Amino acid sequence: MPEQTQSGTTVLHLNESRCEGYGFCEERAAELVRLDDEGNLHMLVDHVTPEQLDMAQKAVRSCPVAALRLESAGA
Ligand code: SF4
Repeated sequence: MPEQTQSGTTVLHLNESRCEGYGFCEERAAELVRLDDEGNLHMLVDHVTPEQLDMAQKAVRSCPVAALRLESAGA
């Protein structure tokens, strides 16, 4: 799994059918995700920069229903 990706493009994916709107991810990565008033999570960025990777990994680990995952999308 590409959690350690250092180069290329890393994308934070949300499985909307799993997300229960707990918001733990937002607490850890407010610059990457935002929970709206109806409990729907929105991605704020198209990809995760190297500087944001640690934050993104914390968000992924914080989700109790494993609705988030990091994926390498670049070469
Ligand atoms: S922690 Fe998981 S379930 Fe909660 S809002 Fe984030 S992605 Fe959705």
